[in-house]
Amino acid sequence: MRSSDAIGIYFRRAADELDLSDGTRRLLLTARREVQVQIPVELDSGEVATFIGYRVQHNNARGPMKGGLRYHPQVDLDEVRTLAALMTWKTAVVDIPYGGAKGGISIDPTRLSSRELDRVTRRFVDAIHDLFGPDVDIPAPDMGTNPEVMAWIMSQYGKYHGFSPACVTGKPVEYHGIPGRDEATGRGVGSLTLKLLSRLGRRIPGTRVAIQGFGNVGTHTARFLHDAECRIVAVSDATAGFHRAEGLDVPALLRHAQAHGGRLEGFEGGDVLSNAELLALDCDVLIPAALGGVLHAGNAEAVRAPIIVEAANAPTEPEADEVFDRRQITVVPDILVNAGGVTASWFEWVQNRQHYQWGIHRVRQELDRILGEAFEQVWQLSSSRRVSLRTAAYMLGVGRVARATVLGGIT
Ligand code: NAD
Repeated sequence: MRSSDAIGIYFRRAADELDLSDGTRRLLLTARREVQVQIPVELDSGEVATFIGYRVQHNNARGPMKGGLRYHPQVDLDEVRTLAALMTWKTAVVDIPYGGAKGGISIDPTRLSSRELDRVTRRFVDAIHDLFGPDVDIPAPDMGTNPEVMAWIMSQYGKYHGFSPACVTGKPVEYHGIPGRDEATGRGVGSLTLKLLSRLGRRIPGTRVAIQGFGNVGTHTARFLHDAECRIVAVSDATAGFHRAEGLDVPALLRHAQAHGGRLEGFEGGDVLSNAELLALDCDVLIPAALGGVLHAGNAEAVRAPIIVEAANAPTEPEADEVFDRRQITVVPDILVNAGGVTASWFEWVQNRQHYQWGIHRVRQELDRILGEAFEQVWQLSSSRRVSLRTAAYMLGVGRVARATVLGGIT
């Protein structure tokens, strides 16, 4: 199943609970604008290569549209469209004044030099600079892009529109970025995991956690939960996976990854395990923090963790979701639990507009507050309406967007 189908199903469940009309559903599901542009660049070899870039601006009923820019060979319009809608519901769940957007270039960034990527990024900005900006649509890093790419975007945008640091977020701290943006998604995943454990009356120290993915989100989640005295019993990435029932040495894992280009391969402090084994491990909390669609009809029955925390975007297919529902496995949905990144992006945008700097403590404090409040609202709605946390999160997000759309006037 494509992730667009899965997210469509989750939307429909919430729309049914909210009793939305067919007309409103169609309005909320249709993107405001979808752009596809040609990006011709000269490679270092002197050859010309042409790439395709996309930006989908899904909805701006609650504020300027916000969403990442992904560089990956499999980027296509369908994927970007799906992720743009997901951003609209996500910003609404945590109640920050943004809509949703997403962009991407169909490209393998690992095969281009830094100078080539710089040129590709700037040509993309040349093609769409009139369509985004601080009050319209604000890109951010996503898979395959990083703070440096965001710096190129700001620099190129400035050539047309003057000094505008708020036109993009996730910038380097030394170039109008903010401390704490990098860790924000993992911190949010970690802090909401602790909130859930407390809500369920479970003891936090010693909680056994398995994490799939050891990139930006996986590493910061592991660090946060390790500091909270949870036991990280398994981790994996695209190169390897490791298990240790007494808990892995997280600082050693982080040092190993840092010394090996982010890869876990070659770590010696645990038994080797596969990604399939990690997903079926006997543990208390399972955190998919890598790819979408990893929990599906084929492996849902094998999952043994009573709690799943969706750090990745769209890791659970609807068939698996139904199995988890039936088996009373608690699933904390992506649009709530991984919203820390976009929330910290909002802080960066606010500070850029005020030409002011908050400092790391205020960033963390505000982040914990906003995510904590959103968690409480989703939890209450889930209890009062007797629906899953996912349906409750979609109801909250979709309901807020629908209300703002009506208040703003449709015609
Ligand atoms: P990343 O590129 O930094 O890390 C991805 C990790 O997944 C790497 O460790 C990689 O080796 C691993 N991986 C790739 N293929 C795998 C496979 N087949 N099996 C196991 N592991 C595999 O990406 P990230 O920023 O950490 O994002 C991870 C997920 O979180 C994505 O779904 C992303 O959309 C989502 N997300 C990220 C943010 C953010 O702020 N970075 C915000 C919201 C959602």
